Amino acid sequence: MLKIKDLHVSYGGIHALRGIDLEVPDGKIVTLIGANGAGKSTALRTISGLVKAESGSITYDGKELLGQPIYKILEMGIAMVPEGRRILTNLTVLENLKIGAYLRKDKAGIERDIQWVYSLFPRLQERSWQLGGTLSGGEQQMLAVGRALMSRPKLMMMDEPSLGLAPLVVRDIFEIIKEINRQGVTVLLIEQNANMALKTADYGYVLETGQITLTGTGRELLANEAVKKAYLGE
Ligand code: ATP
Repeated sequence: MLKIKDLHVSYGGIHALRGIDLEVPDGKIVTLIGANGAGKSTALRTISGLVKAESGSITYDGKELLGQPIYKILEMGIAMVPEGRRILTNLTVLENLKIGAYLRKDKAGIERDIQWVYSLFPRLQERSWQLGGTLSGGEQQMLAVGRALMSRPKLMMMDEPSLGLAPLVVRDIFEIIKEINRQGVTVLLIEQNANMALKTADYGYVLETGQITLTGTGRELLANEAVKKAYLGE
């Protein structure tokens, strides 16, 4: 279980997170939704160790993450799929996947997990020798997810996987997220596409200017009038 308590993060004078509390139970899909600039990416980046917190705590299985180096957090089983994919455009699909396993030494396990990723994304297998930069946006997102899976995470965090993708491709990506979760990976998903995210998630949190303003099951939030008005365009 990932547990965030009273987390504050500032960038210079900007107080990006103002005391958020959030829980991601094992085996679930949790989403954090909110407008541009609400602080969603900051939350993920702080969990990953990329951004320093000012105060508060983030524990995973009871261990404090704040202050740990990035590789330690990865070793604890937490991987992130960053916003905008950030795959390596001059490397092949297969090379990109192998980079996701850079902390591992178990050759046989890595080989098995490449096959696992290919079974989740047959399209990547067909294109294993293609350069990352020549993939479509949806394929690049699949590759970014595949690369994160290559660290064999227990918790996978995703920053706006639907950004810039066509609706049909977005649907595919969310189907894959559910499948990965069914195979035992816990998911923390941040999204501006609140509709898809809440339909997919077990629990949701609404973040507004650095504070959690609402929380509930995905279904409860989908039916919430304030959420409908602000995030679902109804
Ligand atoms: P988006 O969906 O646009 O990425 P977000 O909800 O993820 O938005 P954050 O990127 O976490 O929001 O940003 C929260 C606030 O912190 C914003 O006001 C943003 O301008 C500010 N911020 C983010 N990163 C930095 C940084 N490196 N330096 C200074 N301010 C930052």
